[in-house]
Amino acid sequence: MSTSAQAMQSTETCNITREIIRCANFSAIKHKDQRRKDPEMTPYINHPIGVAYILTEAGITDLSVIQTALLHDTVEDTSTTFDEIEAEFGKEVRDLVAELSDDKTLMKEDRKRLQIEHAPHASPKAKLVKLADKLHNLRDLQRTVPRGWSQQRVRRYFIWAAKVVAGLRGTNKIMEDALDEIFKERNVYV
Ligand code: NDP
Ligand code: ZN
Repeated sequence: MSTSAQAMQSTETCNITREIIRCANFSAIKHKDQRRKDPEMTPYINHPIGVAYILTEAGITDLSVIQTALLHDTVEDTSTTFDEIEAEFGKEVRDLVAELSDDKTLMKEDRKRLQIEHAPHASPKAKLVKLADKLHNLRDLQRTVPRGWSQQRVRRYFIWAAKVVAGLRGTNKIMEDALDEIFKERNVYV
């Protein structure tokens, strides 16, 4: 590779690195007052970063997918708006975050049902983030049970997640195999 080609490549790498850190910083600020539901009350930002990390481990380095992973719960769980996401990160990321955001005006049961129904119709990039999101949440639940959750509630969550994942299949073998391993351990078959 010529010196100028190397310089161009490193400029591009710098820009992508800058974009990812800008995005992680945006998400960290938005989620700063939130905690996960585990007994240790882990800072919430561990989740979007963990989802993005799962994607890179599964071979995904597409910038818009990684940005969406970092931002996927900002609109659903904080005062962030879709317009703000678009102004900061562009229309593609806005649309992907929209695909990943439940409609909070609906009842919880309807939101859960719609996730199952909508999964097969999601875009390929949204399916990747959904798989990583489910994998991270199930790994969290395997690690520790949230305070107040019965074993039955945990099991119902695994069954619901397996139904969502059923609609995401054929997207990424590494994540699907990891999820299948978890469902097998739990005797969850849908
Ligand atoms: P919830 O939707 O209440 O909680 C699960 C969600 O919490 C995950 O999808 C994840 O979403 C987030 N989360 C935060 N911390 C953790 C963590 N440590 N591990 C895993 N996920 C975490 O769960 P349910 O599906 O059980 O409840 C649905 C509704 O039913 C709720 O209204 C609940 O109050 C009610 N309910 C259900 C019972 C049951 O048996 N299923 C019993 C009693 C009430 P994210 O990726 O967005 O962070
Ligand atoms: Zn999430």
